[in-house]
Amino acid sequence: MTALLTDGRFFFPGPTEVRHEVLAAMARPMIPHRGAEFSAIFANMQVALKQIFGTARPVYVSSSSATGLMEAAMRSAPPGRILSIVNGAFSERFAAIARSCGRETDVIEVPWGEVVAPDVLEQRLSAQRYAAVTVAHSETSTGALTDVRAVTRMARAHGARCLVDSVTGVGGAPLEFDAWELDLVLTGSQKALALPPGLAFLACTSEYIAAAPATPGRGLYFDLVEFEESTAKNQTPNTPAISLFYAAEVQLAAIASEGMPARWARHAAMAARTQRWAEGLAATHGDPALGVLAGAAHRSPTVTSVTLPARVPGSTLVKAVKERGFTIGTGYGTNRETTVRVGHMGDHTLPALERCLAACDEALAELKA
Ligand SMILES: *Cc1c(COP(=O)(O)O)cnc(C)c1O
Repeated sequence: MTALLTDGRFFFPGPTEVRHEVLAAMARPMIPHRGAEFSAIFANMQVALKQIFGTARPVYVSSSSATGLMEAAMRSAPPGRILSIVNGAFSERFAAIARSCGRETDVIEVPWGEVVAPDVLEQRLSAQRYAAVTVAHSETSTGALTDVRAVTRMARAHGARCLVDSVTGVGGAPLEFDAWELDLVLTGSQKALALPPGLAFLACTSEYIAAAPATPGRGLYFDLVEFEESTAKNQTPNTPAISLFYAAEVQLAAIASEGMPARWARHAAMAARTQRWAEGLAATHGDPALGVLAGAAHRSPTVTSVTLPARVPGSTLVKAVKERGFTIGTGYGTNRETTVRVGHMGDHTLPALERCLAACDEALAELKA
């Protein structure tokens, strides 16, 4: 296995820490993007991406942030009504994208920190015909993990496709595109894949892409049909962010050589440690308000939202932890000041996480939480 060396100090929930070797790869000179050298890089990335997504299908690579491919997924979805499962800020964004693409969109509102109940989803899918369902695998604003295999299965049983935002899933949370019979999964470079921001990756079934030409108004830059055709030639539709591809070639190969089961196990161990730490805070500080935001049955292996006592705003704790040399994130949206988020994903290790949590303990003690 390739040694994964990081400074182990940047536990932000995206972007995440990027290894020096990966950063250094970006300093190489430019090459023509229609030449053999670029196609070889692209082909190497495909080998690793197929393993990471668990698919024999090609994986599209977009020079954009993940939101670009969320829009691409929506623009090429079969014509008709959209059902969005909303349990946090990012799943809410998927619903907003659907509406902005002119889709009639219904929403299942789920409390933040929770995941959709199967009977609620079943009932909504039975009451109305939908073209597609949108769902966040790991809801980065709360740390809740949805069973996207079950959601996709249910959507399919009702004749709908399922568009999965796995931006903090792929590369950290178990996901097997082919074995789970998913329709479409997308992710971004800067979360569990521990690359700099600026690339996004998407897998969809051949059925999904074969049906896409029937959807009008797919645009051009984010037309998945274009991606399908270019990817088959180890090319991108437009000029790619070549420097980021250099970084991706190195990092995706390192991920593949770590192996997905080992990588998932490392993330699970870091999540379990963070959850145990967060749960311990309640007793240490004599305040039952402290703990893990997401319900125990559905916690993400890549990000944990930690609820704070009212007298310690998230931004204050983040600043105190920063003074000790570690970066964590504030809460997000409605939970901005009531939680902090620890991003234990990418190439981080348990020993580094221990040091980060110790810094959080010191900061909380100083703030007399
Ligand atoms: C970060 C994130 C996004 C947005 O990704 P960008 O790269 O900022 O466009 C979408 N969904 C989830 C779950 C995320 O964590």
